[in-house]
Amino acid sequence: MMRQFELVERVKRYDPSADEALLNRAYVYAMVAHGSQKRASGEPFVAHPLEVAAILTDLRLDCATIVAAVLHDTIEDTGATLDEINRTFGPEIGSLVDGLTKLKKLDLVSKQAAQGENFRKLLLAIAADVRVLLVKLADRLHNMRTLHFMPPEKRRRIAEETLEIYAPLAGRMGIQELRDELEELAFKTLNPDAYETIDNRLKDLTGRNLGLVEEIEAALREKLAAKGVHATVSGRHKRVYSVWRKMERKSLAFEQLSDVYGFRILVDTLGDCYQALGIVHTAWPMVPGRFKDYISTPKQNDYRSLHTTVIGPQSQRVELQIRTPEMEEVAEYGIAAHALYKEGVTSGAQLGAESRAYQWLRRTVDLLAEGDSPEEFLEHTKLELFHDQVFCFSPKGRLIALPRGATAIDFAYAVHTDVGNSAVGAKINGRMSPLFNELQNGDEVEIVRADGQIPPPAWEGLVSTGKARAAIRRATRTAVRRQYAGLGRQILERAFQRAAKPFSDDKLKGALPRLARTSIEDVLSAVGRGEMFSGDVVRGVYPDYKDERPREAREHARAGQNGHASGTAIPIRGVESDLPIRFAPNGGAVPGDRIVGILTKGDGVTIYPIQSPALAAFDNDPESWIDVRWDVDPEEGRRFPSRLALQSINEPGSLATITQVIADHNGNIENVSMKRRTPDFTEVTIDLSVFDLKHLNAIVSELRAKPAVSKVERVLS
Ligand code: MN
Repeated sequence: MMRQFELVERVKRYDPSADEALLNRAYVYAMVAHGSQKRASGEPFVAHPLEVAAILTDLRLDCATIVAAVLHDTIEDTGATLDEINRTFGPEIGSLVDGLTKLKKLDLVSKQAAQGENFRKLLLAIAADVRVLLVKLADRLHNMRTLHFMPPEKRRRIAEETLEIYAPLAGRMGIQELRDELEELAFKTLNPDAYETIDNRLKDLTGRNLGLVEEIEAALREKLAAKGVHATVSGRHKRVYSVWRKMERKSLAFEQLSDVYGFRILVDTLGDCYQALGIVHTAWPMVPGRFKDYISTPKQNDYRSLHTTVIGPQSQRVELQIRTPEMEEVAEYGIAAHALYKEGVTSGAQLGAESRAYQWLRRTVDLLAEGDSPEEFLEHTKLELFHDQVFCFSPKGRLIALPRGATAIDFAYAVHTDVGNSAVGAKINGRMSPLFNELQNGDEVEIVRADGQIPPPAWEGLVSTGKARAAIRRATRTAVRRQYAGLGRQILERAFQRAAKPFSDDKLKGALPRLARTSIEDVLSAVGRGEMFSGDVVRGVYPDYKDERPREAREHARAGQNGHASGTAIPIRGVESDLPIRFAPNGGAVPGDRIVGILTKGDGVTIYPIQSPALAAFDNDPESWIDVRWDVDPEEGRRFPSRLALQSINEPGSLATITQVIADHNGNIENVSMKRRTPDFTEVTIDLSVFDLKHLNAIVSELRAKPAVSKVERVLS
């Protein structure tokens, strides 16, 4: 535990004018207040606030902040009151401690609580005085360092909150070291296996490349010195979490990560930065697209530096950061560094008067003061904090973070794979909305689900998360395989029936070696895909069976004897069935038409009207002809596509007459195209969907009765 004199020494080291008596008073006050309280580790509790204060002395913060850190847990956990602290330490420290006390109970990742509201409280407290955030971050860092004493569930929750809220906030405030450590600790807690794996690989790499870092450092130093640039060079491998993120972001394996080493070049002046850059680029080839000038355009948290990557002396990629010691201060301490360049800065308002990070905080607070709705609030804060993410909520208030551009489909899969697979619609902020609409910050998303859904393969192109993409691919693959197997089974059952041979899975199983297939499923889907003929399967099971059937099926169909509940025909219910079925494009069959199915390799069955001229193309391929029959329940009101070709007289209102007739009969027009052939007549092609042949015929008859229409014909593909 840190001793009283150590605390004073730590502060005096960077601030000789620090109020020694005040620090001593705080130390004693906390010691007395926390008394015999213990932490989960068994240590005296007071060790915690003192460690927090120590972390803040590393950031070289002002005396008031250090004192507030020492006192930060007294009001909540001991008999101390705000009044007493105000009296003993003054209002500046009092308000800091008060702000910290208010933050103690915030749960920023709880599934149920209003996270927006809590986050708002957090920002309000820290924006009143940014030093509150600095203490809070140090508090969190020490809690993360000692997290292993907590029960596992609590550990997880705290780590999640750290990764989602506090680490990005530290980054936003530009306190890189703190951010890095928070991320490392949180990642280690949340994903210990991944952490260990990467950590071991990094160590392994370091072992194998012993001396490489020093070699590159020396090479850099030498090149710079040769041109008279005075520089300090230091290299190290990257942090585990940053390696992990890179692997995740770019879907790379560890072996593919070529730049796990980063080097920092500190030079005296701004001009030297660019000169050093020129020297490095002259000495080694630069990797295109990697150069960034954060000196002329600083990051939002005031970070300034030059970044580049070159192919180094050993032909490996070397990442370089070039900057001055002043820039280095900001890179390390961020908003905390701003106090260093100002004389006698102690108050929160003055602290970081020049800091863009602080300006951001002020802007955010101004928005709050204007009484923004929680949605707008999130829009403005989290949006800027995590600018490449959108934050949406489930109706129960669960926060879902998604990459920018994500859709409700991504959201659904982020909640659960089952939710994604069964999604049929979305309510965004209470309003029905297409599933593929891009989500905005603060959207509340409710997924409308229906059982027995299969995600359409086209969804793959509408999502931005890998999780959704993989799940869609898996679900459609499974569904398609199941569909083909279902079709294959129907085809086989009928083939065996016609052959008057019993069919069972067992019999099929026995014939697998003869069929050169590994499973029943395999046979079924091969037949469904048209990759294997049903006749071959029958012969595989009953080797002496003689098959006459293909020709017969076609004759059957041609003779128009199918379609009447013949036991061997496959029932057709429409396109949305569990069979891979399509209707011939450009004028398909409707119930009432006599139909035949054509099995095309990998395409399932296409339904044609028996009169279709397109069928001639399959005449020499008897195995592809499948007996099918309609099995449509008129009650369901399913519609089927058909096409009409009309000739209409060119006079005003002709087209209106035609469409009116179709509408009057409750036909659905899907598409209309017109071609004027002569001055007097126009050819009109109408794609419409109807319930059945009767329905279609009624429309055709009425159209024929109209004087504006000179000719109506049905188009069959
Ligand atoms: Mn604490």
